[in-house]
Amino acid sequence: MFVPGTPPSLAVAALDQVINPPQPDDLPEPRIIPRSEHGISRQNIDPDALKVLYRLQRHGFLAYLVGGSVRDLLLGKKPKDFDVGTDAHPSQVHRLFRNSRVIGRRFRLVQVFFSRDKLVEVSTFRKLSDQTDDAVLQANNTFGTPAEDALRRDLTINALFYNIADFSVVDYVGGLADLKAGLIRSVGEAEVRFHRDPVRVLRAVRHAARTGFTLTPDTLAAVEHHRGELAVCPESRIRDELLRDLKGGASAPWLELAHRTKVLYSLLPNLEPIYGLEDSPERAWAARMLAQVDQQMAQGQAPDEAIIMAALLWPALEALANREEFTPGRPGRVQWALFTREALPRLGQPVAFAKRVVERACQAAALMAFVRQPLEGARLPKKIAQKGYFVDACRLANLLGHDLNALAGTRPPAAEPARRRRPRRRRRRRPPQTTPQP
Ligand code: ATP
Ligand code: MG
Repeated sequence: MFVPGTPPSLAVAALDQVINPPQPDDLPEPRIIPRSEHGISRQNIDPDALKVLYRLQRHGFLAYLVGGSVRDLLLGKKPKDFDVGTDAHPSQVHRLFRNSRVIGRRFRLVQVFFSRDKLVEVSTFRKLSDQTDDAVLQANNTFGTPAEDALRRDLTINALFYNIADFSVVDYVGGLADLKAGLIRSVGEAEVRFHRDPVRVLRAVRHAARTGFTLTPDTLAAVEHHRGELAVCPESRIRDELLRDLKGGASAPWLELAHRTKVLYSLLPNLEPIYGLEDSPERAWAARMLAQVDQQMAQGQAPDEAIIMAALLWPALEALANREEFTPGRPGRVQWALFTREALPRLGQPVAFAKRVVERACQAAALMAFVRQPLEGARLPKKIAQKGYFVDACRLANLLGHDLNALAGTRPPAAEPARRRRPRRRRRRRPPQTTPQP
């Protein structure tokens, strides 16, 4: 199905691939980079992922490390997760690993569990089935060859494989050259691929921001061309991808690139009048707050999603607040709370942030009334410092350069609340026993 307004050339190109899908003979030969010519060492591969790879290989299957983990290992970064690709069917994989389960309806894959929260995902090589909307065709044509699996991926740097059989890197798409040149390039024709799945627009921007790489001209053009189609993607997918952008440790460079490509305004159109100007002070402020979030992430002190959302939107909220008048004292604080409750969710629309996240962000934002309007010597009421959302408010205030704890006269929330000890009861001294006098 094509989105209305698709340029005819695009529609024809996509249709052409539906009618004439790539034939096995058209598929590229891989470039095999031997162990001596790349830097991936097994020492940097998760031991459980290695176990999975070796067992598949011992049973005669192809066993590759795939996707983001190969990219990160080549960049010398620690991968978040290690995904495995194989020519074994999901049921064959499941039989090899007792500690596994098959998930997914359309694309079945196997999760191999090593502990309660540690798993390795094993997926069977897939075909470029997103070229067609025919569900029956998709269901029947899911599995493919390693070449087909590489060609269905989003970016060349994400389409590299590491083969456990000979420790080589297998490159069907020129990903290694792009990795060396610092380029973000769509696999296949960017115009067609981004139209088929507009979420790839977000993925291209994310990976460019995270690596500091440059988008190739055709990929950049496709980002700008197809950003509007994000509006037709399932809202849960958009929300999850945006949260990955914000929580990925590179949210500040992401904000700048998302502004330059205008992807930010396809996601959050209400920010455009405020952050959209070339030298918007509010956007610069948001970038500074997000840079602190990135730093906290790197130190393993991730703030809650609600606080990251509030940080992204905060300077825009302040810009809107400047148009309002807030009376001093308590009435003004109530006014501020009402204002944030209305304006903050509006700035975040139409992204489907979870209700809980919006609620927490609004509660924390409401407490910022105390830092926006100093209390003139008075302390923040103790009962507020005892509220559940006070910890969130402290994190947000901290990003704004304020210490809410000092205002409240409380200890930092990170510290364990001191347990009140029951005063020990003094033992009553027994009066010395007196022997009754005869
Ligand atoms: P991260 O380090 O953030 O996990 P990643 O590249 O591993 O980055 P994932 O979302 O975990 O990203 O996806 C794993 C792999 O699946 C990607 O490397 C890419 O090859 C492929 N992929 C993910 N989403 C798409 C998509 N929309 N279109 C094509 N391929 C995709
Ligand atoms: Mg990943």
